[in-house]
Amino acid sequence: MNAGKTAAPLPRLPLWIDGAAQAAFAEGCAEVFDPARGEAIRLAPLCEAPDIERAVSAAARAFPAWRETTPLRRVRILMRFRELLERDRKALARLVVEEHGKTLEDALGSVARGIEVVEFASGIPHLLKGEFAENVGGGIDCLSLRQPLGVCAGITPFNFPAMVPLWMFPLALACGNSFVLKPSEKVPSASLRMAELLAEAGLPPGVFNVVHGDAAAVDALVGHPLVRAVSFVGSTPVARHVQAACARAGKRVQALGGAKNHAVVLADADLDFAAEAITGAAFGSAGERCMAISAVVAVGAAGDALVARLKERAAALRVGPGDAEGSDMGPLISAAHRARVAGFIEQGVREGAELVADGRGLEAAAGKGFFLGPTLFDRVRPQMAIYREEIFGPLLCVLRAATLDEAIALANASPWGNGAAIFTRDGGAARRFQNEIEAGMVGINVPVPVPTAFFSFGGWKESLFGDLHVHGADGVRFYTRGKVVSSRWPAADAAAPGLGMPTSG
Ligand code: NAD
Repeated sequence: MNAGKTAAPLPRLPLWIDGAAQAAFAEGCAEVFDPARGEAIRLAPLCEAPDIERAVSAAARAFPAWRETTPLRRVRILMRFRELLERDRKALARLVVEEHGKTLEDALGSVARGIEVVEFASGIPHLLKGEFAENVGGGIDCLSLRQPLGVCAGITPFNFPAMVPLWMFPLALACGNSFVLKPSEKVPSASLRMAELLAEAGLPPGVFNVVHGDAAAVDALVGHPLVRAVSFVGSTPVARHVQAACARAGKRVQALGGAKNHAVVLADADLDFAAEAITGAAFGSAGERCMAISAVVAVGAAGDALVARLKERAAALRVGPGDAEGSDMGPLISAAHRARVAGFIEQGVREGAELVADGRGLEAAAGKGFFLGPTLFDRVRPQMAIYREEIFGPLLCVLRAATLDEAIALANASPWGNGAAIFTRDGGAARRFQNEIEAGMVGINVPVPVPTAFFSFGGWKESLFGDLHVHGADGVRFYTRGKVVSSRWPAADAAAPGLGMPTSG
């Protein structure tokens, strides 16, 4: 800044409550950065209990009428929302690029994957249909139905500003719930934009609300007695914290946590194909994907040939602003995160791993953006920090294993179990991997096996706390609860049931 000149104050984002943008009561705020330029561009309010109270109360007031709105009418609003998302998908993707840093192509892809959940949710009249059995006991019929829960909350991470919120609220709303979303304070704008689009689509005020903030906002939201279910996506320690708070309060929760996803490459694989796929999966979105591959286990003779190919491809990647023509990979989310990932590179070298490609000292890093280039370590051992920790950056570890058994055992010893992939031409080996690997999402020659919206997304072990995964059939179950009705219309002279246990025989 020039001496003597005062910078214009940064714009302060509103909350979205009761169908309108509203200024926060809270005075504190977080700076939202453009990570490619390293500059703060706006402020996100850090909500505390009074703002959370406003949003949850609005959602609670809106719930009864929304619940009574027929599923078909709810879906018509979602269908209009889908058209508006399609109309504005570039603008939405640009917001994602601006605040997160990923490339425009990647951001457009993430919006498209989010739209697929809206499309799945549009089938809710069919998905909510229950079962019916006639004459299960003397003159008794039985039916099952699913009903909405009430106010649901969503808490989302920085890495998918549009897609992860879209994993949650379209299905929650389709099922008849009202919703309060707390996006990451690092990427708050896409959620606000989607709130405006929902209002334009005709969603009644209060059915969908957006608050901002950090831990204090999350704790107030999760702890609010009118919030019935919490969907959380973020790091494992926070997921554990949110899950424990919900368990104490007897609330339904799905808390998706961190990951360290393995790709096992067998010697019979097409190594060019595997290297290309793994490069995209490790360095796409600068490695800030919960389904990124961060550990490769090269089996037997695959090792040297694979590492040579990965090295070549890492060197060819163009790192630059996500909105610049030709960028393959953008910056990391913050200066602190860049420093953390660079710290892991130093530690990897200290611990004796072989640094094959070093992302430090990148030309793009000469500016103020939070850039770090693709980094590749070979001969990583399981006890090293670069393997043990979730780094969430463009750092790929290659480990060596003698056999498929050894590779599976290594991956299964990881505390996380989000995704895992195998590259091979051997159907029998792939089938064994699919059967024995301890991960919720498995790819066979597919590096990032993110299920489409009509299946459910979720990991095992430290990657998910709760029973139900997001979207797909599990999503419908998560946002509804079941009821079974037994009914009898006795004739005037029918005998009343006695004291014995009723049976259907
Ligand atoms: P994070 O855990 O720091 O933040 C997630 C959310 O929790 C944000 O909304 C944040 O404001 C809030 N939060 C942060 N600290 C908190 C605290 N102490 N108490 C209560 N709330 C808190 O995660 P992040 O850095 O935004 O996102 C990256 C992480 O998310 C990675 O670990 C990644 O693997 C994970 N992630 C997982 C999935 C999945 O599907 N399993 C998907 C995307 C991201």
